[in-house]
Amino acid sequence: MRFVVLMGGPGAGKGTQAKRLQETLNLPQVSTGDLFRENLRNNTELGKLAATYIDKGDLVPDEVTIAIVKERLSREDCANGALLDGFPRTIAQADAFEQLLAEMGERVHVVPYIHVTPEVLLKRLAGRWTCKSCGHVYHTVFNPPLKEGICDLDGSPLYQRDDDTEETQKRRIEVYFEQTAPLLAYYRDKGLLVEVNGEQSIELVQKDLVQAVKDSN
Ligand code: ADP
Ligand code: ADP
Repeated sequence: MRFVVLMGGPGAGKGTQAKRLQETLNLPQVSTGDLFRENLRNNTELGKLAATYIDKGDLVPDEVTIAIVKERLSREDCANGALLDGFPRTIAQADAFEQLLAEMGERVHVVPYIHVTPEVLLKRLAGRWTCKSCGHVYHTVFNPPLKEGICDLDGSPLYQRDDDTEETQKRRIEVYFEQTAPLLAYYRDKGLLVEVNGEQSIELVQKDLVQAVKDSN
């Protein structure tokens, strides 16, 4: 099994890259943000609870987040491992994840860190549009769809996420530096962190990520 943790601020390109790497690495993308949004669409209690945090740009409590990841990893498509996108986001989540993997006789293999400066993060978030049905991510300037407002892959309408308002975006970047950035040292100390320049084209970032995973053991 192989567990790859993609790190990077909000807007760094984790979701974009995870979707592309799924096929190349033959690992499913496990995105906590997508899981919360799926729950919200299905109107579950968990979705409603998560939304109260997501709407403010704050993190959903650790216990709730860890439980959702545990359930997701128990599904059949994770038999070979997974590509984690947006999890862990706190030291407590990283510790719980390590314990969960240890119970399975597994570990984190590599933590590619997609490095992007805060100014660029904001520009990326401001132009982000997402497909309503498949979740594919576009950017009005950097990665536009062929037809405005329509997903290239399945023709569904694109939308701007409710939490992609200017105020929430700034808060998410703040929360990232306060609560998630300490994980960089956590994984660096374990010898797992590999920094990748996130301010290159989507294709070049992908190439560097594939290399980072190949070089890991
Ligand atoms: P982005 O792509 O902008 O980084 P995500 O889709 O990963 O955003 O996450 C959206 C929101 O979902 C976060 O702002 C947070 O409220 C919640 N969330 C996602 N992952 C986690 C996590 N691991 N821990 C706590 N909250 C999370
Ligand atoms: P994250 O999941 O880390 O929050 P996303 O994958 O949602 O980030 O990407 C944020 C925005 O930036 C999207 O609009 C996406 O199209 C765009 N984007 C992603 N990677 C790049 C890149 N290498 N260059 C320019 N824009 C990018």
